[in-house]
Amino acid sequence: MKKTTLIIGAGGVGRVVVHKCVQNAEVFGRIILASRTLSRCEEIKSELPNADIETRAVDADNTEALIALIESIDTDIVINVALPYQDLAIMDACIATQTPYLDTANYEHPDEAKFEYKLQWERDEAFKKAGIMALLGSGFDPGVTNVFCAYAQKHYFDTIETIDILDCNAGDHGYAFATNFNPEINLREVSAKGRYWEEGRWIETEPMEIKMVWDYPEVGKKDSYLLYHEEMESLVKHIKGLQRIRFFMTFGESYLMHMKSLENVGMLGIQEVEHKGMKIVPIEFLKTLLPDPASLGSRTKGKTNIGIVATGIKDGSKKSIYIYQVSDHERCFAEVNSQAVSYTTGVPAMIGAKLMLEGKWSGNGVYNMEEFDPDFFMDELNKQGLPWQIKEL
Ligand code: NDP
Repeated sequence: MKKTTLIIGAGGVGRVVVHKCVQNAEVFGRIILASRTLSRCEEIKSELPNADIETRAVDADNTEALIALIESIDTDIVINVALPYQDLAIMDACIATQTPYLDTANYEHPDEAKFEYKLQWERDEAFKKAGIMALLGSGFDPGVTNVFCAYAQKHYFDTIETIDILDCNAGDHGYAFATNFNPEINLREVSAKGRYWEEGRWIETEPMEIKMVWDYPEVGKKDSYLLYHEEMESLVKHIKGLQRIRFFMTFGESYLMHMKSLENVGMLGIQEVEHKGMKIVPIEFLKTLLPDPASLGSRTKGKTNIGIVATGIKDGSKKSIYIYQVSDHERCFAEVNSQAVSYTTGVPAMIGAKLMLEGKWSGNGVYNMEEFDPDFFMDELNKQGLPWQIKEL
């Protein structure tokens, strides 16, 4: 029987997920795209005139509205590519309607920039009782980076001792300052304190305190800064024997200079301030001023390279491998009208959902990506537009 797929969130990532689900229509069947603003859903639908797509307006902060929507369409899966603020409301609607769930980013409270899986993992029992699966973090990072770690563990090591996740976006959109995905989420992440895990504990750093230069294949040498990133929380739990894990992301000087200036004048604030009798949240106002990430697609040139370096022991000897994926912004735009940051997130979201619908990744409860057999996912990456490489270092 033809399946029904509900995609929530018609932003940059949502657009890619819709395009890729349509390319795999034999798995996803009828697609319902729902978001806060109906016109954004309609715009995406208009790019695929021959596809079986319906659109709906929904407030995904409202669990009751979500339950009503899910019941009205009888969907086989919910792909959540709205914002991290909506994760819990959507998960609760999935529990109530016994519908499998997938997202690409961990829950965040709008008033607190805190990245952790706690509240989502706490729903494990409820998902088990409902007899359904939730797959958390099926984007690139988190997502593919977790799968790379599981693949290294399965095929290359007896024990992995250290992991460095290396995220480079060398795309140039021609603006002095813009973010490649939702500005609010992006700026909250990169202006927060850094953190890495070593010998069983988290070590906190000042924002951008630790820097290294990494030579990214097909891109070149780039300044890379240590950040906290959410996939580390689940990887320290699931990769046994791990002694250290760190995450590095590249930033250009112009981006950092703008971000520091905006932070210094309070524009990255997430608490309400009073302005001429109105209450505004500075970072939300900044989002209004900055270019819409969806509009960057047509002007972004260059490549992304995201990967992991794992070091550990195999048959008594120490070894290191580098698994990475390179995407080209212009090639992504030519295929799905989105730049590579949305593309590299949307394709893995589609792949995770495909493996769930096909029953290749299955279970009852709340899961992270590295808990499943990585081979299916790695094969799909090669087939669906994100080919990867492995180098022994
Ligand atoms: P966008 O801001 O472009 O899109 C988000 C969409 O969600 C918008 O269409 C927005 O609607 C919709 N939305 C927001 N609030 C609600 C609500 N209450 N009800 C219904 N719809 C809502 O973001 P991106 O597409 O760039 O990012 C999507 C997700 O992907 C985010 O969670 C982000 O953190 C994650 N991400 C994950 C990455 C990874 O590698 N794992 C990398 C990049 C992003 P409207 O248009 O009306 O505002």
